[in-house]
Amino acid sequence: MIFDLMIRAGTIVDGTGAERYVADLGIVGDRIHAIGDLSGAETRDAINATGLIVAPGFVDVHNHASNEMEGGILNIPDVENQIRQGVTTLISGQCGGSPWPIGEHLESMERLPIRQNYGLMVGMGAIRACAQIGPREASPADITRMQAMATRAMEEGAWGISTGYFPDFVTLDEMVEVTRPIAEAGGIYATHMRSEAKHLLDALKEAITIGERTGCPVQISHIKCWGRYAWDKAERVLQMIDEARERGLNITADRYPYVASFSGIGNMIPSNLRIEAGKRGGLEHLADADLVGHVRDGANEFIEEIGGAGNMVFAPLDPQPEIDGKTLEEVAAERGEEPWRTGMELTIRGKVSCMYFVMQEENVREFMRHPAVFAASDGHLRVLGKGVSHPRNYGTFPRWIGHYGRDEGLFTVEEVVRQCSSMPASKFGLHERGTLAPRKIADITIFDPDRIIDRATFNNPHQYPEGVPHVIVAGKCALRDGEVAAANGRVLRPTR
Ligand SMILES: [Zn+2]
Repeated sequence: MIFDLMIRAGTIVDGTGAERYVADLGIVGDRIHAIGDLSGAETRDAINATGLIVAPGFVDVHNHASNEMEGGILNIPDVENQIRQGVTTLISGQCGGSPWPIGEHLESMERLPIRQNYGLMVGMGAIRACAQIGPREASPADITRMQAMATRAMEEGAWGISTGYFPDFVTLDEMVEVTRPIAEAGGIYATHMRSEAKHLLDALKEAITIGERTGCPVQISHIKCWGRYAWDKAERVLQMIDEARERGLNITADRYPYVASFSGIGNMIPSNLRIEAGKRGGLEHLADADLVGHVRDGANEFIEEIGGAGNMVFAPLDPQPEIDGKTLEEVAAERGEEPWRTGMELTIRGKVSCMYFVMQEENVREFMRHPAVFAASDGHLRVLGKGVSHPRNYGTFPRWIGHYGRDEGLFTVEEVVRQCSSMPASKFGLHERGTLAPRKIADITIFDPDRIIDRATFNNPHQYPEGVPHVIVAGKCALRDGEVAAANGRVLRPTR
């Protein structure tokens, strides 16, 4: 036996939570062949991992690689911000949005050099949009059409379905019915819940109900207490999850290790008003005489909920120097107008995202520590130095491990590795990945336990992390001695 690649004398943390041990790891082709004392064996190539942790590649089951910024992964398949964190698998198509049809997108991806493996959820919002149902309740015939689309997505390789940003006219029954074919096909239901704020508990109840009525495993995406009316609800949220688990529901959650969220500015205006303006022909109708008073009240309530206009930082999708990186409070003051009006005008102008500093550190930690919660970035692909960025795009996994695990002492290395690898992999059914063992696919992240750390901050977000020298994807080095190498990622479809 000649190995293709040997990782010598590393400290193996296998992802199961088992205690670390020092060993060699030998790879043949794209798979791990042996772990143990392989000092007598021949190998074509070797990495010396003395003093380093050898872990399963990290699995990021909630990110937005498929779309949005920079046109998404089709345009920048070999971008580095994920691989440099040690991420070897991305599951995209989250929060209700995904390409459609799934199969066509995945086939295009197969022709591109990608740094890490890539899989997709189908967005229920994307299905609803492509079915052209519009802003109203779905009819039985609409639901039948959407069920057929959900079935098709699963046949074409989706890992499940995602929801997010649904207004009231999308009913619980509709979501249940469209999720049924997903459950039958063995997929999972991942949700950016209808509310993460004032109505957080109702929204969680709805997500649990969807799981219990369909039998579909549930993933609560980027679990959080958003804004002041939710801050005291973390304990109850976790209790509800525990109770559902005791009743037999397969429900888990993911979390990114930061206190600010990132999404569109439109959030500050109630969705019914945005829908009404849309019906009239566009968001500029928010300023119509009969709507503008409601817009003001809704936006002011929102500003109160986030703790003031200083907690909202603009991150426009195209460079807009007059607002880039400034708070709503600052821009409103410069313009000499009330913050709600600035918010409305920027919403109308469009293409503005924001970072909302609306979470409490204590809650973030409480979620991270819960046994049903694991790491995921909720991030986007980013070209270094280009455009706006949330630090999670560059730092999620090194921060979870280095800052929270090591420096804050929240977790052992064995625990953090499990939270970044086998927990997400097993939840999403990535059975060949997420742990280190003979015959598993050789997706491997090698990091320095004393040095691994995020460098990206809110003020300086385009910074690669440190302490992750080598990453292997399907047996080939994607990162070696800190330099990017092969783009050996694969498109992943479930085998059922
Ligand atoms: Zn989301």
